Amino acid sequence: MRLKAAAVEEPLELLKGLVDDMFETMFDEPGIGLAAPQVGVSKRLVVIAPVADDDEGENIGARLVLVNPEITWFSEERVPYEEGCLSVPEITEVVERPRAIQFAYTDLDGVRREHDAAGLLARVVQHELDHLDGVLFVDRLSLIKKQLLRKRLKQLADAARS
Ligand SMILES: [Zn+2]
Repeated sequence: MRLKAAAVEEPLELLKGLVDDMFETMFDEPGIGLAAPQVGVSKRLVVIAPVADDDEGENIGARLVLVNPEITWFSEERVPYEEGCLSVPEITEVVERPRAIQFAYTDLDGVRREHDAAGLLARVVQHELDHLDGVLFVDRLSLIKKQLLRKRLKQLADAARS
């Protein structure tokens, strides 16, 4: 899970079973986003639940499947938001990230798309794309917060190695 995931290069039909499993796992937990490395598949693939893509929390989109996603623009303005993660159980912490982004991805039909997002969608996309590079939200905390969490983070690191 700490590795940089590989680009998806196979025919997209082959991903459909994995994508279904990922949605099921995500909705079961429940979570609002899941990256393939979290289920042991080191590929650049992410699923996201329907969430708002604006600051007002009103414009709820559809569920998204992001193949080989990349963030192409980040706002300079950063905002705090409390994050949790299925791979970091029992810890939620406030993380500062850019408020808005633009991102590009290939959908399951093979169409390359671009999307503007603020609000929860911007947050989820940034969190999930971090997973593709082996980065967890706790890596983005301040040194002081990491110190406070050090015991718990060490347990997680030990668990990841075993
Ligand atoms: Zn996560």
